[in-house]
Amino acid sequence: MAGAVAPKRQDTRKFFENLSGAGKSIAVLTSGGDAQGMNAAVRAVVRMGIYVGAKVYFIHEGYQGMVDGGDNIKEATWESVSSMLQVGGTVIGSARCKEFRSHEGRLKAAHNLVQRSITNLCVIGGDGSLTGANLFREEWSGLLDELVQQGLIDKEAACSNSELHIVGMVGSIDNDFCGTDMTIGTDSALHRIIEVVDAIMTTAQRYLALVSALACGADWVFIPEMPPEDGWEDSMCQKLSEVTTVSEGAGFKALLTEELVVRCLGFDTRVTILGHVQRGGTPSAFDRILASRMGVEAVLALLEASATTPACVVSLVGNQAVRLPLMECVQMTQEVQKAMDEKKFEEAVRLRGRSFENNLTTYRLLSYRNADSELPNSSFNVAVLNVGAPAAGMNAAVRSAVRVGITEGHKMFAVSDGFEGFYKGHIKEIKWGDVGGWTGQGGSLLGTKRTLPGKHLEKIAEQIKIHNINALLVIGGFEAYVGLLELSAARDKYNEFCVPMVMVPATVSNNIPGSDLSIGSDTALNAITDTCDRIKQSASGTKRRVFIIETMGGYCGYLATVGGLAAGADTVYIYEEPFDIRDLQANVEHLTQKMKTSIQRGIVLRNENSNENFTTDFIYQLYTEEGRGVFDCRKNILGHMQQGGAPSPFDRNFGTKIAAKAIQWITRTLKESYKGGRVFANSEDTACLLGMRRRALVFQPVSQLRDETDFVHRIPKEQWWLKLRPLMKILAKYKTSYDVSDSGQLEHVTRVRPKETNTSAAI
Ligand code: ADP
Ligand code: ADP
Repeated sequence: MAGAVAPKRQDTRKFFENLSGAGKSIAVLTSGGDAQGMNAAVRAVVRMGIYVGAKVYFIHEGYQGMVDGGDNIKEATWESVSSMLQVGGTVIGSARCKEFRSHEGRLKAAHNLVQRSITNLCVIGGDGSLTGANLFREEWSGLLDELVQQGLIDKEAACSNSELHIVGMVGSIDNDFCGTDMTIGTDSALHRIIEVVDAIMTTAQRYLALVSALACGADWVFIPEMPPEDGWEDSMCQKLSEVTTVSEGAGFKALLTEELVVRCLGFDTRVTILGHVQRGGTPSAFDRILASRMGVEAVLALLEASATTPACVVSLVGNQAVRLPLMECVQMTQEVQKAMDEKKFEEAVRLRGRSFENNLTTYRLLSYRNADSELPNSSFNVAVLNVGAPAAGMNAAVRSAVRVGITEGHKMFAVSDGFEGFYKGHIKEIKWGDVGGWTGQGGSLLGTKRTLPGKHLEKIAEQIKIHNINALLVIGGFEAYVGLLELSAARDKYNEFCVPMVMVPATVSNNIPGSDLSIGSDTALNAITDTCDRIKQSASGTKRRVFIIETMGGYCGYLATVGGLAAGADTVYIYEEPFDIRDLQANVEHLTQKMKTSIQRGIVLRNENSNENFTTDFIYQLYTEEGRGVFDCRKNILGHMQQGGAPSPFDRNFGTKIAAKAIQWITRTLKESYKGGRVFANSEDTACLLGMRRRALVFQPVSQLRDETDFVHRIPKEQWWLKLRPLMKILAKYKTSYDVSDSGQLEHVTRVRPKETNTSAAI
């Protein structure tokens, strides 16, 4: 069943070599409020544009620069976007521009573009900026006619510039643009918020308020879409013990809330208005990756655009790149605003899209504790355990599971120290209050061990019997997966294992078959990116230095590759992409060439198990020797810092949502398998892994994942993120082949969402 992974070669792939940008000019601008990650997007557009042979222009100061022209529109070079990946805000400047709202202003802008033969425009901004872009494109031919009439351009120029292609990227911390799950800047803003809110009361934008409420386990959240019901003052005061999150525009003032809390509870209360804190700091790993992926997508979309394709927005739905017609997104966004203005809150939530709605549902589920008498009583006992190495976000998952389980009427049991604690009988009932404050804590509060259940089946079966456990939720990494396989394989022998079992992946390595992502890997990525930033900074002032950095991940190159993309690495060595001495030589040569330019730094990442003999020391020594006189080297082994630390907002939310879904599955499966007064579940589909696949959370029988697994190296045989490697190489100035068969197809903003099924659910 196991074996080395041979990289698969399929001939059905579509490569973008056929898409040339020669003779085309692309301009990129950032507009509206700045957002973290905008720079990463600009960098990706510029480099990808240059890579495909196009001319790329910066437009400084957003639409103002486009209207004013002159020096505001400047050709970009490869080096001009160096070292901006880690910088907050927008390096090319953004502004609000009144003139662009007028026809006159847009006429001037069109003139400036035509003079430079720019007919491809990439706009990074919020809904206002994209609405403006849409209007500009609609007016384009009319504007050209006017310019001809006024004698500002000749007919020929009008003819050769007759098509304006526009691609938008949503860069806005508010995440309030319809059609997109995550916008550039939202994740960084969430980072800032949880830094502050982990302990205090706050006000923030409504999406941010909601997601950060999930991330912090806030007791109360005020957002415009969910106005409080009559009597909210009493019920809030009744339960308020921790934090309240208030969104801007929630219809009443944060101060009012403060006064109320002080008056009714006598709590010492402070209101902290986050304001611009949300925009500060460096972009998170997620935002850099999102922006880099979207920037490359934007260029592809521009190259593929024709007279008949509408202006589009590139975005990510789940883990998948998609293109959406700009006009549909704008319309939908305006409808939400209208619904809000008319106080049709349910309608607004529905229009916001499934992701927002799901967050809201999960938040409601976890925060309102009903009186015990109001809860159903299922009479089922559900056990929760952590297995494998600790991963940030495990505790958020446990909290969510315990609370959702209690809400569904189950008795929840916590098992300490994984399968080891299980066979030793370290099992205790866990209550609603026991998991308070767990969301933001790193490590595993339950205790976790790598022990597999295989050798202790009999004792585990006995414990299941003693405690009358009717279902299992395992939160963990590769050992959790193998453990579940062992338990389900032993069902013939032990009736006790004939209960619903589900695992959710939680490991920094992100090496679990059946899931694109696992809980904990985002936190680890941020640790890697932060450290790389510091390392880069340590070298500022020092010229010609190359850092060799070793990351964790076992044989899985996810952390190294995706961390490398976020940190702007020159080369990333991983096990999945074998390399030999010729590659090493080419990489050293590449850095030598780079040192001749104005960018005199390099970062090389190496996954810990990428090659038995080409160790980190070896690579360090090789680079040192070969680079002698050109650059010097330093090495750094990141080690366990990648496993620790407070969970990132993404891991908190992901852990919270996925565990809630897992418990809902347990409830359904328990009902289905309860016959003749007992639970009996022994079919394949009652031992599942809940994973994120592309854009949905999917339940997959663990037995069916066997074939997808390389058990020797503990990785899935197919890994989606390998597709990001060419992207990383292109951005580091390597020539490579880039498979674009998976790049976004034009889709529509859906009003009616597909029904959730038993085996899959929206994220
Ligand atoms: P955001 O893009 O972050 O939502 P704004 O709403 O301030 O920020 O829009 C940024 C800029 O986009 C405005 O200053 C203006 O130049 C342009 N813009 C916004 N809305 C329109 C519109 N309806 N028509 C033309 N231009 C617009
Ligand atoms: P929402 O709360 O709006 O559902 P999430 O916080 O769940 O959003 O995350 C947004 C989406 O971004 C996720 O659905 C996931 O698919 C995607 N995503 C997260 N991390 C990564 C990553 N490292 N690489 C690619 N996609 C990611």
